[in-house]
Amino acid sequence: MEFRFSTIASGSSGNCIYMGTKKTHWLIDAGISGKKVERGLKKLDVDPKQLNGIFITHEHLDHIKGVGVLARRYRLPIYATPLTWSAIENSSSVGEIPQECKLIIQRDQEMVLDDIIVQSYGIPHDAVDPIAYNFYKNNKKISIATDLGHITESIKENLYQSNLILLEANHDIDMLEVGSYPYFLKQRILGDYGHLCNEVAAKMITKLYHPKLETVILGHLSQENNFPALAYQTVYNELTLSDIPLSSKFQLKVAEREGVTDIYYV
Ligand SMILES: [Zn+2]
Ligand SMILES: [Zn+2]
Repeated sequence: MEFRFSTIASGSSGNCIYMGTKKTHWLIDAGISGKKVERGLKKLDVDPKQLNGIFITHEHLDHIKGVGVLARRYRLPIYATPLTWSAIENSSSVGEIPQECKLIIQRDQEMVLDDIIVQSYGIPHDAVDPIAYNFYKNNKKISIATDLGHITESIKENLYQSNLILLEANHDIDMLEVGSYPYFLKQRILGDYGHLCNEVAAKMITKLYHPKLETVILGHLSQENNFPALAYQTVYNELTLSDIPLSSKFQLKVAEREGVTDIYYV
């Protein structure tokens, strides 16, 4: 076992992912209140003081809401691209972040940090410089990719050969189209820089499947335009059509919107 992985929150109303090794503890985004992050970490038996850092994907509030509080309270290293930092600094909702906490990760960078290797790459989404991450430790790879307007060649390549993938399954297109969202918002979500729908996520997963893929977690579900069971079923059907059975070695899960539920070991 190299990694321990869990979602503390995943969905349009807040995202915070935990990933740890035997020695280090990391968060990807902190888009919920500091209190909720602390509560989630407690369930994982991690003291927030033990955190080695937070990796930020982009400046939307559902990814950074708690970053200011956590930075001020625990003086954590926080990694974001220079453009994303400028956008965070201009956001009125996170407050002051101590200068020494602001660390830079560039898009398309690979860094060794303590006992992990982190790799970032650009994704199509309507933020200033959105990125997704891969993490490596020894022969294991974890990929986190949400807030994807569409699937690019680079996303495909980056998700290749992962052992655990957290992939966005934001909405069901029909639910979104007949739903209550205003026209402009529907267009934004459906657009090339919006969010990934269940169907595209499903097709992607069948293409990414390889014998060492152990876990796929569907995440960043919309509260209005999706149901966990619908996202699951859409992907399950596509896997079945492609003759990819779920088994004790390959599991499909849906991240809870709030709260730690499952812990995965990779
Ligand atoms: Zn976003
Ligand atoms: Zn988001």
